[in-house]
Amino acid sequence: MAKSRFEYVRTYEQDAILLPNTYIVIRLDGRGFHRFSAHYNFRKPNDKRALCLMNAAAKQVMRQIPDVEGAYGQSDEYSFVLSRECRMFDRREAKLVSTFASTFTAQYQFLWPEFFTDISLDGNMLPSFDGRAVLYPSLREVRDYFSWRQADCHINNLYNTSFWTLVLTGGLSEHDAEQALMGTNSGAKNELLFSQFGINYNDEEIMYRKGTMLIRDVGAGGAASESTESRDVQEWHEKSKRQVEREEKKRRKAEIVELHVDIIGDEFWRGAGRWIS
Ligand code: ATP
Ligand code: ATP
Ligand code: MG
Ligand code: MG
Ligand code: MG
Ligand code: MG
Ligand code: MG
Repeated sequence: MAKSRFEYVRTYEQDAILLPNTYIVIRLDGRGFHRFSAHYNFRKPNDKRALCLMNAAAKQVMRQIPDVEGAYGQSDEYSFVLSRECRMFDRREAKLVSTFASTFTAQYQFLWPEFFTDISLDGNMLPSFDGRAVLYPSLREVRDYFSWRQADCHINNLYNTSFWTLVLTGGLSEHDAEQALMGTNSGAKNELLFSQFGINYNDEEIMYRKGTMLIRDVGAGGAASESTESRDVQEWHEKSKRQVEREEKKRRKAEIVELHVDIIGDEFWRGAGRWIS
């Protein structure tokens, strides 16, 4: 294309390039979903349709973007971890984050009628998602990141379950329920649920308590051709395009598996080499 005399304005653009050889985690979060969920009468404390819709939209993102190795979702948020080798958009942060947020948002809207069969989206109250990218240098931090999100899921869900049980079953006003829970630890909330309402928190649906982990079943040999430990920095830079493409193809073909399990303990991560490279 011919250059115009206006072309110079392009030099004002600033691209943040994400550090090479680091895991990229992109977290999306629904904008104003407290209001959004009230508008569409989400069931409290957990609307299963809404969670399944989030999971379905995230799976579509994984199908379309093979650089994603796994994802974790709870409430109105989803986190996607990209391989350290990811070269998508030459690791330009703005391109990555905006593409994830808009792809996910488009899928969420497109899939809405599959999950909310009796209420259609209203043009004045459409869902949107913000996004951010965070870099982690090792699998340790990636693992702790996912543990952090699952711990958040647990704390919020125990609180919300107690709160809505007090309101919906106990007949308390929202204000009184809030007062009743103020300063209570998790033991006290478990006890309150059990002694006053006969609810054993551990019997609540596991997707509500643990959130959803999506991984690719890459089969024998795992996601990486070699173990993470044995690869050095040089290798990252020299990894041939063919090799990167081969691994991408493997991910593209793999089935996406949905798990509702503890990801804080060791057990889940023992097999991590199978899905994270
Ligand atoms: P922000 O724009 O700052 O993210 P927000 O209102 O989205 O504001 P969050 O902290 O993200 O605040 O909380 C999301 C809220 O959405 C929850 O507190 C809850 O009220 C509601 N929500 C999300 N998913 C569900 C669901 N599956 N069932 C019921 N309520 C939900
Ligand atoms: P990238 O992902 O890098 O942006 P791209 O294919 O979107 O790649 P652009 O430079 O953004 O490349 O160009 C957008 C292209 O989309 C145009 O070149 C044209 O082919 C097509 N396009 C966009 N809008 C229209 C339109 N209204 N009518 C016909 N073609 C269109
Ligand atoms: Mg937010
Ligand atoms: Mg939100
Ligand atoms: Mg949120
Ligand atoms: Mg374009
Ligand atoms: Mg364009």
